[in-house]
Amino acid sequence: MPTPLDDRRKPCGVARLTNRQLAWRAIGIKSLTKDKIIKQEQQATINTEVLIALVGGVLGWALASFTGIVLLGQKGTLLWNLIIPFCSSIVVSTLLWFGLLGWVRLRKFDRIAQIHLTHGICPSCAYQLDDLTTQDDGCVVCPECNAAWKQSRVRRADETVTHA
Ligand SMILES: [Zn+2]
Repeated sequence: MPTPLDDRRKPCGVARLTNRQLAWRAIGIKSLTKDKIIKQEQQATINTEVLIALVGGVLGWALASFTGIVLLGQKGTLLWNLIIPFCSSIVVSTLLWFGLLGWVRLRKFDRIAQIHLTHGICPSCAYQLDDLTTQDDGCVVCPECNAAWKQSRVRRADETVTHA
């Protein structure tokens, strides 16, 4: 696993998703997502997520077909040839996606960090980075988790709205 780093190259966290954000992530339809940060995150990680969903789908289908046809001898039944493998595909790909989401976000941390900073939010802990004093090295330090971010990368949430 790569370690996420702040702008002083010190290890930091990856901002956790709220339950609401996680729900938007799980629905996975970018055009419907109401949360601006999640919408942009989805754009950054879509390829990996589609790949995970496909792998999970194939695995789920294979697992159910193997169980039905090989283990239970249910050859040629609609239930075991279509319905159960289909449901299994969805369940396994969802579980796999859920299990790997942390890794997916970590992998794209540079992009995800910039998305958070553009909204004035600490990429390490999701704290609002407004009105902080810029230090000598051009960084602002998050009062919540001490991660340091270049002031030039941080936009205030209200500025983002004006320029959008
Ligand atoms: Zn922070």
